[in-house]
Amino acid sequence: MAPFWAAGREEAVFSSSEDRIRAGRVPVEVSRPSIVPRGSLSYLAGWVHRGAASLFSVFLPSDCRLCALPLLNISRLPVCPECLNRIQPIEGNVCSICGERVLSAYFECDEDGLRRCPVCRRVDHPFHRALAYGSYDGGLRELIHLLKYNGVRPAAGVLGRMLSETLSAVAPSLEQPVVLLVPVPLYRGKRRQRGFNQTELIAQAALRAPMSRERFQLASNILVRVRDTRSQIGLTSHQRRENLRGAFAVTRPQQVAGREVVLVDDVYTTGTTASECARVLRRAGASRVWVATVARTLKMASKYEEKQGFGFSEFQGLTREVDAERHAETLKV
Ligand SMILES: [Zn+2]
Ligand SMILES: [Zn+2]
Repeated sequence: MAPFWAAGREEAVFSSSEDRIRAGRVPVEVSRPSIVPRGSLSYLAGWVHRGAASLFSVFLPSDCRLCALPLLNISRLPVCPECLNRIQPIEGNVCSICGERVLSAYFECDEDGLRRCPVCRRVDHPFHRALAYGSYDGGLRELIHLLKYNGVRPAAGVLGRMLSETLSAVAPSLEQPVVLLVPVPLYRGKRRQRGFNQTELIAQAALRAPMSRERFQLASNILVRVRDTRSQIGLTSHQRRENLRGAFAVTRPQQVAGREVVLVDDVYTTGTTASECARVLRRAGASRVWVATVARTLKMASKYEEKQGFGFSEFQGLTREVDAERHAETLKV
């Protein structure tokens, strides 16, 4: 059976003429200027040939943008079903508070029934809980990059279905019948440059699921990013917090006061952005803030995957401060 997020894919039509045509399948002769005088038969033949080539570039499937194998079906999303099938939800034990993977030493729940990672044993977050659909690596990471950096907007549909799974996990614990769904905003300059806020597109797609539509109300303009911030990569935990201080503001506090809020983002990496947004929303009067993301960096898992050459450099950069502590914990396991 097709996975939940693949439903309806076959109805879509792939029409991105940016995608290259596979060599050997279609004669590529598009933009060479004709030296044949107008009106001649050869000119007409050339015109027909060029027209056919451009038609093929619109209607023939391209290669999968993740594994580069030929796509067999026409689709708006240039990713093959096999690559999509490989994207799976996070399995195993995760921290009840932040969603980080917890290893065998932390299997036990605390007296309140919650399982806490080493960080959440020590730190109180401004958000209530953070949940994610999948691990930020492999195909899921590439799919997010396709949307974010390559502007492949149909990827938002699949990512939205994954986010709606996360929202389904949050829904039973919500205290209010309808809660605000607030996407992490981009600074207006970056939004203009990218042309869209990927998190907003993903949130809109998630709300196509009937359950999500009933319980969540999209509130895109309530939280804004009032200043640009430099990349968080390579910064210590303290530097990350400083970098984001004062970067977000609530524009209409009266709409947030007393409301339960689910903050949504594409990726949860260190949690600094989610924490800062949650802090600002709480200060504006939100009764409780949840965090729901499509993906999450599983740092402890990365320790074990480094041998396969998997994301270790990023892991080092992103988690410098907690790394030493976690490394010590990892060695104990
Ligand atoms: Zn593929
Ligand atoms: Zn945790």
